[in-house]
Amino acid sequence: MTDAEPATTTAVRGDWGPHARTPAARSLGAMIAAGRLPHALLISGPAGVGKRDLAIRTAQALLCESGESDEGPCRECRTCRRLHDPSQPALEPQHTDVEVIGPGALCAEPTHDHRNTRTIGICVIRRIEHVATLTPFEARRRIIIIDPADALTADAADAFLKTLEEPPGPVHFILLTVQEARISETIRSRCRSINLAPLTADELDAWLEDWARTAGVQVPEEAERRAELTRLARGRPGWLQASLSAGDPVTLRAAQIDDAVRIAAADRAERLGWSDQLSGRSSNAQTVANIELILDAWTDWWRDLWLALGGRMDSLTHTSQRERIEQIAPMYDQHHITQFLEQIQRTRALLQQGVNARLALDVLLLSIPVARTSP
Ligand SMILES: [Zn+2]
Ligand SMILES: [Zn+2]
Repeated sequence: MTDAEPATTTAVRGDWGPHARTPAARSLGAMIAAGRLPHALLISGPAGVGKRDLAIRTAQALLCESGESDEGPCRECRTCRRLHDPSQPALEPQHTDVEVIGPGALCAEPTHDHRNTRTIGICVIRRIEHVATLTPFEARRRIIIIDPADALTADAADAFLKTLEEPPGPVHFILLTVQEARISETIRSRCRSINLAPLTADELDAWLEDWARTAGVQVPEEAERRAELTRLARGRPGWLQASLSAGDPVTLRAAQIDDAVRIAAADRAERLGWSDQLSGRSSNAQTVANIELILDAWTDWWRDLWLALGGRMDSLTHTSQRERIEQIAPMYDQHHITQFLEQIQRTRALLQQGVNARLALDVLLLSIPVARTSP
């Protein structure tokens, strides 16, 4: 190895994934190679940015049969494959010393049924406390991933503090959350924080190329469509993976924009009918998830109209909709669009606070800006 070696050389042995060149993976790699990974990590970052993926890769790096290195796990040895099987990417880790805890996890009480629970209660933490005292079954240490850590109830979080501070055995806890502020200060102060920022467009595009080739997934080759796809992803590789596996995100977005345009032109009854259809017989949680996708699309769409009114056609997200944007934007007042974008943000916050999803959507639908003339 020489001093002249460029910093962008791809690691040969290990693979930290989409975030390989970011400070997050670099500091994880350095701590693991030095044998100084803290017992408690808190990884935060937006949904779809790749927190779970990085947590699994950290577990792999700690247990990898080719040893610990700052370059990340090999992803190919038997142990790495038990934690992540590329042919079954949705499968949970199949290793006795690695566990992912989420709502619905097993607890210490044989009579409890948590299948429909949305939180992680104290009975689950009691079991984890016990597991943490046991000698690892196969490996030199245990890894327990808590996803999302903000699902811990206040009682559970309190009970967890002591284990987090002084683990009774060789165990690493990796807590995940979309927002660090959702985790109590007492938990945060006992964890090493790692923030996973969205990737830059270039980083995302470079990773997409590699990933699509290995995963055998089609990505649009045409430059403009490809660029729009990257903009829609807003730096989140996990989002791209999930949406490309489900279809063509640019086409899906075009359909969501059709809806946005139709609903903006509709009267009150039609808007509420649409909301009715959307909430239908789904659970509140499912409705929240559906509405969040719509809010993403509407934010991007109305921002495009706002940008067009400000003469900033070069900054559009949906360049494939340029003509439509030019045609529709002049019907609106830029100030009204600003207010509506703020209303979308408020709706998002309300949904996260757990208000009734249907109600939040209805309020939003009735505050859509009024067009000066119909299209
Ligand atoms: Zn390995
Ligand atoms: Zn329980």
